Amino acid sequence: MTDHLTIPDDLLPSDGRFGSGPSKVPVPTLEALADSSTSIMGTSHRRPAVKNLVGTVRSRLKDLFNLPDGYEVLLSNGGATLFWDAAAFSLINAKSEHLVFGEFSSKFATAAKKAPHLSGVVEVNADYGSCPDLVEDPSVDLYALTHNETSTGVMAPLSRPAGDALVAVDATSAAGTVMVDPSVFDVYYFSPQKAFASDGGIWFGLFSPAAIARVEEIKASGRYMPSSLDLSIAVQNSRENQTYNTPALATLFLMNETLAWMELHGGLEFTSKRCAASAATIYGWAERSAFATPYVTDPKLRSQAVATIDFAEQVDAAQVAKTLRANGIVDTEPYRKLGRNQLRIALFPAIDPTDIEALTACIDYVVERL
Ligand SMILES: *Cc1c(COP(=O)(O)O)cnc(C)c1O
Repeated sequence: MTDHLTIPDDLLPSDGRFGSGPSKVPVPTLEALADSSTSIMGTSHRRPAVKNLVGTVRSRLKDLFNLPDGYEVLLSNGGATLFWDAAAFSLINAKSEHLVFGEFSSKFATAAKKAPHLSGVVEVNADYGSCPDLVEDPSVDLYALTHNETSTGVMAPLSRPAGDALVAVDATSAAGTVMVDPSVFDVYYFSPQKAFASDGGIWFGLFSPAAIARVEEIKASGRYMPSSLDLSIAVQNSRENQTYNTPALATLFLMNETLAWMELHGGLEFTSKRCAASAATIYGWAERSAFATPYVTDPKLRSQAVATIDFAEQVDAAQVAKTLRANGIVDTEPYRKLGRNQLRIALFPAIDPTDIEALTACIDYVVERL
């Protein structure tokens, strides 16, 4: 049985987790959590130990992204998915434009479309595997961009259009993998279980002064909004290093460990180079391979956060993923709704570039023997 094909030990990566989220949390990071013993876990999020942890995470994010004065790091519960709903209540005045080129960008567009208090959305579409160009539209007050479409492995260029509409960037899987110029966004939001080697449940947002002003304006207008989706409440709480309701303390702890590691090695320059090295390895391998090709045809759009690799018809990618899984190499399956004969491989900073190299050798080994 091919499921029982055993990959030789000397080919295996040092860590077999290649999922796009929840993603690999390095063992030392998990050990640090265990070692933290009674200092954080099981203590009040309204007391100094946890509030200081939140404060450290916020200031490390500010440094990591080199945020200009006036930009604020906000956080609250619910992850990036909840942030879309919060944005529909608390950040979009009337009408938003969405660049749609995958499942995640499409979900935010749908959330905005359904909000009864908004007056519709402008959707700019591109085929999956590519990305659309932004179309300047004076009738919209927010542009919704996605830095990395995790469902397709497209990393899109970011730019700020003319006018004073806000630019909100879903950076859930991009943040931490690639350099970004804060002047192009008003909100750069993400979840900790992707490039930050932490766990889920929280969203982080880097907010410009204009974005904070928008939140306050909409609040002052008296629009109904549930408290959990009211970003003005997130602003108040974040400023006090708290969240409106109880956050996952382990998520915050792991996030802080990863941020300290990134900082120690040189910040975003270090992480983006490391991700670029992994990307060069996987795409280079696929281009040389007789059976694999990068799904994203334009090399400039190939993600250095998440790589999508198509397989030739005669190779069953699902079978390859299953065999890898039986050998402890997990979560290389493609995004479920994309429906391609493909593997999807995370290239996040926590993943050692030499493990990406090892993974390609394991795939070759499996495919030769299937
Ligand atoms: C994972 C992901 C999300 C959803 O994040 P959650 O934390 O699960 O809500 C949204 N957008 C992108 C681009 C993602 O990769």
